[in-house]
Amino acid sequence: MNETMVTRSRNRAVALIQSSKAVYLGTHVRPDGDALGSLLGLALALEGQGKRVARLSADPAPQSYWFLPGADGLSCEPPEWPAEVGIVVDCDGLTRVGPLESAFARLPHLIDIDHHGTDQAFGEVQLVDSGAAAAAEIVYGLLGALGVQTDAAIASCLYAGILTDTGRFCYGNTTAESLRIASELVAAGAEPHDIARRIYEERSFAATHLLGVALTRLSPNHDSEIVSAMLTRRDFADTGATPSDTEGIIDHLRSIGGRRVAALFVEVEGEQVRVSLRSDGSVDVAEMALSFGGGGHAMAAGCTAPGSLEEVRDRVLAAVRSALSRSNCSHAG
Ligand code: 5GP
Ligand code: MN
Repeated sequence: MNETMVTRSRNRAVALIQSSKAVYLGTHVRPDGDALGSLLGLALALEGQGKRVARLSADPAPQSYWFLPGADGLSCEPPEWPAEVGIVVDCDGLTRVGPLESAFARLPHLIDIDHHGTDQAFGEVQLVDSGAAAAAEIVYGLLGALGVQTDAAIASCLYAGILTDTGRFCYGNTTAESLRIASELVAAGAEPHDIARRIYEERSFAATHLLGVALTRLSPNHDSEIVSAMLTRRDFADTGATPSDTEGIIDHLRSIGGRRVAALFVEVEGEQVRVSLRSDGSVDVAEMALSFGGGGHAMAAGCTAPGSLEEVRDRVLAAVRSALSRSNCSHAG
């Protein structure tokens, strides 16, 4: 989107929000730091403007985000009261809200706030910028347009979103704008040390044990350009870990030198496998995830695919190998 289009969409979003009394906010299934930070920050801001707000998430927040203001007010079911406007953050399609989809689809007005390159536009207003490192950056811009004074609670939520989606300001999506906004959020009261400690340094024993199991399953592939690991349902039972305890494991795989793609395969209920993919930029993993029914960003994407662990792993790794071979050929030629 060019600047004029961004301004126009933002103005339309502001007009819709200002004319509403009640708003449903939603985000994707298995919410991460950006999903939660964007939703909770926006919720506080809208409540500050006198609106009634529902914080909707099909899945609960992982424990490491319980400290975020308003995280205890998340609900997996729409409230009994109606709303004029729905705002869905960090979702590259309305289906990403999972079982809440129909609750959002029947609202009179819907706003899509997202930063995925794979965004399939939904709703009547799209605030979509694939150049933003986090949906929280876009929310911050919207709050400015709404004339919201960012207080410490709002700032903490949005800072958590940017911190996690930039991998602590280390990933390739980190821009001057990400750092500028983060700096303004800190000036508004977000505490970088405290937020980082709560998200990254209070891992449970079970989650750390699960990480250990994943690391024993490391397997190099395609001349070590691909590093992958698998976790079975049995691993969760053995360690006592929960599904959200897989967060962060992929970062250990992507930190291996020389690797171009990292892949984590996690067996989940119903003969399905959760796949997380990370790229060093030489291949677009969002494209790959999209072909398996998922989505994401060029360097970080995911999907849930049907089949056994081995079947899904073989299919996905074959796709990764062929993308890497094509990229090697095009660089050689
Ligand atoms: P992760 O591997 O951390 O679960 O996800 C990495 C990125 O891919 C995130 O931006 C996330 O939103 C996106 N992603 C992960 N799984 C899915 C999926 O099943 N569908 C879609 N559309 N995006 C996904
Ligand atoms: Mn995000």
